[in-house]
Amino acid sequence: MKRVHNFCAGPAALPTEVLKQASAEMLDWHGEGLSIMEMSHRSKTIVDVFNEAEQDLRELMNISDDYAVLFLQGGASTQFSAIPLNLMGDKGKADYLNTGQWSKKAIKEAKKFVDVNVAASSEDTNFTTIPPVESWNLQSDAAYLHYTPNETIGGVEFFDVPKVDVPVVADMSSTILSRPININDFDVIYAGAQKNIGPAGLTLVIVKKSLLGNADPKTPTMLDWGVAAENDSMYNTPPTYSVYLAGLVFKWLKAQGGLSAMAEINARKAKKLYDYIDQSGFYANPVEVQSRSLMNVPFTLKNAELDKVFLEKADAAGLLNLKGHRSVGGMRASIYNAVPEQAVDDLIAFMKDFANAYA
Ligand SMILES: *Cc1c(COP(=O)(O)O)cnc(C)c1O
Repeated sequence: MKRVHNFCAGPAALPTEVLKQASAEMLDWHGEGLSIMEMSHRSKTIVDVFNEAEQDLRELMNISDDYAVLFLQGGASTQFSAIPLNLMGDKGKADYLNTGQWSKKAIKEAKKFVDVNVAASSEDTNFTTIPPVESWNLQSDAAYLHYTPNETIGGVEFFDVPKVDVPVVADMSSTILSRPININDFDVIYAGAQKNIGPAGLTLVIVKKSLLGNADPKTPTMLDWGVAAENDSMYNTPPTYSVYLAGLVFKWLKAQGGLSAMAEINARKAKKLYDYIDQSGFYANPVEVQSRSLMNVPFTLKNAELDKVFLEKADAAGLLNLKGHRSVGGMRASIYNAVPEQAVDDLIAFMKDFANAYA
């Protein structure tokens, strides 16, 4: 069996152990004689699978009973509209930080529903920095503050949570589960699953229960978090297989030692890669040092004409999906939880050989 190193930004690598278990259970789930994909979402088996996934996630992230955990669909992008609809109330305005392509999309969508105040933007540095807190232009009567703790495309990460008096909403699609966070610093956390949780098709929303039940009356039922919470994420047919697989990933994370163990490994992986890039004289990462993402590492080659041959040779060496996002160019290595340290070591060794051959 061949397994390459997969540096895709999303859908991203999944732990081999998880895929092995899922394939072993594919045709006959625990002696029931059918696949988990073929079961009713009202069956006890699926209800148990959902409950167990939720419990494991609560343990991993230390999520108290004050929060609801929702397993939804539509991707993080659907939440770009669900957020204003659920939270705007009669305030009608919200603060957004603009630190990259995903912030921009969230802002564009929110503008359909609320007055968006872009409290700070790093567009003038081509999204390679995080604007200093002192420069943020916050509104004390905003319905909420939205930000993107990790910009998947630009490779920019916040390591501090904004301290404000309004609800804090975080798009954690590409950083969730990569390190411990204090859940109480947040009011809403959301994430598409396909980066660091499981397969595409599942969207996770963690929301303070006190914020539920105030959705705008015109909110589509499927976007109303209160309805999802009341129905244990089963108002309609949920993405059962994706939740099952996410549950296996949660168990895998617990077996690795939980999020502090993952944080240590992830910090080591990222440091090695940035250290090599910085001293190579051949590769470069444009992001200010203190805001460099632990999960998504964009880098350019000294000569962009070499991009194509770099990617061809990387592919041939079993290092896949290193092409950067079209808006940034160059390369990007996404090194999520399921990308083992060995993959980063092999990537660095490849980059060294390539630099020697083409410098
Ligand atoms: C991938 C990504 C999205 C979009 O997710 P979908 O599930 O495809 O809608 C949004 N925000 C961030 C930070 C992402 O990385």
